[in-house]
Amino acid sequence: MAQIRIENLRKDFGAFTAVRSSSFTIEDGEFFMLLGPSGCGKTTTLRMMAGLELPTAGQVYIDGEEVGQKPASKRNIAFVFQMFALYPHMTVRGNISYPLKSQGMGKAQIRQKVGEVAEILGITAILDRPVGGLSGGDRQRVALGRAIVRDPKAFFMDEPLGALDAEFREHMAGELRALHDRMEATTVYVTHDQLEAMQMGDKIVVMNHGVVEQFGVPQDIYDWPATRFVAEFIGSPPMNFLDFEGMIGAGQDTVRLGDTTLQVPRSIDGANGRLSFGVRPEHVRLDDAAPYRGRVVATEYLGTTQIVTLDTAHGALKARVASNVPVRVGAAAGLAFDAQRVTLFENAHGHALRSEANRGVLGDG
Ligand code: ATP
Repeated sequence: MAQIRIENLRKDFGAFTAVRSSSFTIEDGEFFMLLGPSGCGKTTTLRMMAGLELPTAGQVYIDGEEVGQKPASKRNIAFVFQMFALYPHMTVRGNISYPLKSQGMGKAQIRQKVGEVAEILGITAILDRPVGGLSGGDRQRVALGRAIVRDPKAFFMDEPLGALDAEFREHMAGELRALHDRMEATTVYVTHDQLEAMQMGDKIVVMNHGVVEQFGVPQDIYDWPATRFVAEFIGSPPMNFLDFEGMIGAGQDTVRLGDTTLQVPRSIDGANGRLSFGVRPEHVRLDDAAPYRGRVVATEYLGTTQIVTLDTAHGALKARVASNVPVRVGAAAGLAFDAQRVTLFENAHGHALRSEANRGVLGDG
């Protein structure tokens, strides 16, 4: 399989820049997610890697070879669009063997390859059935079979589960991941669904407005968002932001919000002006003795936990607490924060201020 690297990749459509200057590396065998909201440039990035779109600037390397100007047919990758794009009048075997016939492979060899692929996908029993009458799951397996049979260096998938209902989607996501692990394939997968990205991906790149906001393993992206955009886009409910005017000096580990001093991870960079105290709902506790105060405005019961929404002097905040914690709408509450899980942001650019804890994650860039 393949390592894929992009460097300063850019795509302009006329005066509009869809991808600004993206750089990252996808390691051999990784399940790699391109994540971001609609229109952020995920598909354009994938299409440039695949050779379906020529970059305006920058390089694409597959296994160290610069392929930016090579057409898709010369890159030996498989692009899986919508899973259901099959030839309905052909059998399963006909669909899977189609790419091999186009390559001019001999009949006996095709038969053997198709048999192997059908075995991997668990569809041997339906090889001679027309795809027209198959269930959604089986059609998806056939579409994958058609991609796998060519032994490509990498699989590129653009929202492949987009058209499926939630339950089936989850099931197919699990199957795709298992298949990836069995084949040790390099897979690049576009999605706007943060849960899908977190569940399936070894690494995630988060994009917004054509810019790479962050790149890393799911847990680092969740725990140490590099920007406010990432902190809001990932997590449900998203990270809370208490906005305040203030300052933090380099090396300091407290901030003042109104009358209250709050503990934060030791900051490496100093900043002043408009700042945000960012904390995820599960890192907030209701504690009557805590000096930082809020008022409960709503509760949402979720089984083992509940989401409690509070008003504070610095904005609304959600806490995820055990559902047996007694909470009354309208009551005042003290709020305690897990100091080591707090992220401070400067709001002028939305960047996280670096702490001892997240320095390694964000690197030096
Ligand atoms: P979605 O999930 O909605 O497809 P995306 O993140 O994949 O979003 P892209 O499809 O890469 O986004 O598109 C990025 C931006 O580039 C969008 O604003 C889109 O309208 C624009 N765009 C894409 N292709 C073209 C094109 N051929 N000509 C002009 N603009 C384009």
